[in-house]
Amino acid sequence: MTRRTNLLGLDLKGLEAFFVELGEKPFRARQLLQWIHKYRVTDFAEMTNLSKALREKLQEVSEIRLPEVMHEHISRDGTRKWIIKLSCGNAIETVFIPEDGRGTLCVSSQVGCALTCTFCSTAQQGFNRNLDAAEIVAQLWIANEALGKDPKGNRVVTNVVMMGMGEPLANYNNVITAMNLMRDDFGYGISWRRLTLSTSGIVPMIDKLREDCHVSLAISLHAANDELRDKIVPINQKYPIAELLAACKRYVAGDQKRRHITVEYVMLAGVNDSMQDARDLVRILKDLPTKINLIPFNPFPGTDYECSSRNQIERFKQYLMDKGLVATVRKTRGDDIVAACGQLAGEVQDKSRRSERMAQQREVVLYR
Ligand code: SAH
Repeated sequence: MTRRTNLLGLDLKGLEAFFVELGEKPFRARQLLQWIHKYRVTDFAEMTNLSKALREKLQEVSEIRLPEVMHEHISRDGTRKWIIKLSCGNAIETVFIPEDGRGTLCVSSQVGCALTCTFCSTAQQGFNRNLDAAEIVAQLWIANEALGKDPKGNRVVTNVVMMGMGEPLANYNNVITAMNLMRDDFGYGISWRRLTLSTSGIVPMIDKLREDCHVSLAISLHAANDELRDKIVPINQKYPIAELLAACKRYVAGDQKRRHITVEYVMLAGVNDSMQDARDLVRILKDLPTKINLIPFNPFPGTDYECSSRNQIERFKQYLMDKGLVATVRKTRGDDIVAACGQLAGEVQDKSRRSERMAQQREVVLYR
């Protein structure tokens, strides 16, 4: 028997094609989107605006399948983390961060990550596979199911950031399909301002994203010169800073609506936090509309990095602001449940054997 199609991971176009193939009218796709994503109904029998015959046909050839939540952790600051079980012993993490007037969901795109940023816990886990579109959008479905609406009837999850485990632009098609569903009014209806994709800088895919899906863009810059960025964000060896910033310029060009790029900059003591780094940052960002988000480094087991002092982070930020840049310090949230930026690890059955190699390298350093 061939496997039934999981309708959870089809966007409007995908569902329309699915219905046409079944010999049905394409408008059925909108009805299905609403049932699945708005009302979170997973049983075809409950889809009362479809004929009984169609419901039975759907039951035969398709399904609405969600991954299973293994654990839910709630932080003392209200942050929540779900550990979601996938096939073959893998698990991913999704984090909800409540703030005044909004609630942000941090969504994962891969099991582990194939990139090797030295300060990121996910990178140490190695890589297993891409998430499919259903597994990506399921994270929002699950959060909505758990959090529902506030007393005024508004959804508690108002914003989504593709900032969980993985590099979203390295899983391009599935991430686009999932973001289409998040944006679609028949799906989650999240505006592009409230949907942000963060990338370490896969330049050709930034140009493609501009064409394919209207979302806000964040880049993980973390260094103001290539020598340092080559080391701490090694994808820089392939796409150096000048190329990355040129792609960002193209991303905002010609469209008044895409007003700025968010620049993420993790504060690592003695590594990238000197006043010279701040000056370099001002110089390289001067022609690009940006908002700089300084992220206090979140430690994880086995790391040698330390977070910059509070004073240094403040001085760094003040310097940027004095030079006319917009800079904020990201509040650390959920660190008591290991849910802060860069701490997401899940369970990754590492196929790249990187975690093993990295552990060996650490031993070499320790026992030298
Ligand atoms: N791969 C994408 C999506 C991850 S977003 C990207 O690189 O943008 C997660 C953000 O947290 C990135 O900016 C990442 O660089 C940052 N980060 C990673 N490890 C961190 C740590 N230990 N402390 C603080 N921020 C970290």
